Amino acid sequence: MELTRLEFLRKAWRTGIIIFGGASFEIMAGKALGAETAPPAGKRLAMAVDLRACLKAGQCEKCVDACHRGHNVPAIPDVKRAIAWIWRDDLERAMPGVLDDFSGGELRGAKPVLLCNQCGNPPCVRVCPTGATWKRGDGIVMMDQHRCIGCRYCMAACPYGSRSFNWSDPRKYLAKQSINKDYPTRTKGTVEKCEFCAERVDRGQEPLCASACGEKAIAFGDLRDGASAVRKALAGRIALRRKPELGTDPAVYYLL
Ligand code: SF4
Repeated sequence: MELTRLEFLRKAWRTGIIIFGGASFEIMAGKALGAETAPPAGKRLAMAVDLRACLKAGQCEKCVDACHRGHNVPAIPDVKRAIAWIWRDDLERAMPGVLDDFSGGELRGAKPVLLCNQCGNPPCVRVCPTGATWKRGDGIVMMDQHRCIGCRYCMAACPYGSRSFNWSDPRKYLAKQSINKDYPTRTKGTVEKCEFCAERVDRGQEPLCASACGEKAIAFGDLRDGASAVRKALAGRIALRRKPELGTDPAVYYLL
């Protein structure tokens, strides 16, 4: 009989063969807390989305398509089970209170692209009991599918809805001919999300969403490098981040 990882861990717990007990669990959680909340010493990778340029371009889906194709994100018709690494939503819902009845102008109809904010202080990392999600030195919040037990604590902790759970086998929804063989597919019972295209960043490339945008509405780079594309995009502009009052320190900016 085939067991899911979660079923295996439940059985292991009941039969006393669990490999991490209460004490080591504390150590693991403590390690995540201490290590991941300290400011990264190296780069701080970030993204800036120019809402007006995006609006001008007709708010197309090129960025979403490029990301989802490149990362084998399945198109699941049931919205309650959908997987999304990047998606669009109303500005008013994404950033409540940013517009009122008398301001906002053309931005009133904007549907910004939303994605994992690669938080500087990520609550998802703090609650993960297995270390399946962690923050790199450059600020990217990563996921290890092999360590994910599907508990979904990270989803409950993320205040942005940036994580998706595979309620069913995602491979069933990928056409064989469209699978990107250079990127892993995932399995039922695991959580997934955007990782700022860490695999491309490590090759010196920008994320797929940024390179797919014809209007160059998405700038990417190191916040600590004054010459980076993201710093140039931010210069002299008013930029918003989603729910910064929560102390998560989001690395995705929205330029007004
Ligand atoms: Fe974690 Fe959500 Fe922040 Fe992404 S947006 S780092 S998933 S808390």
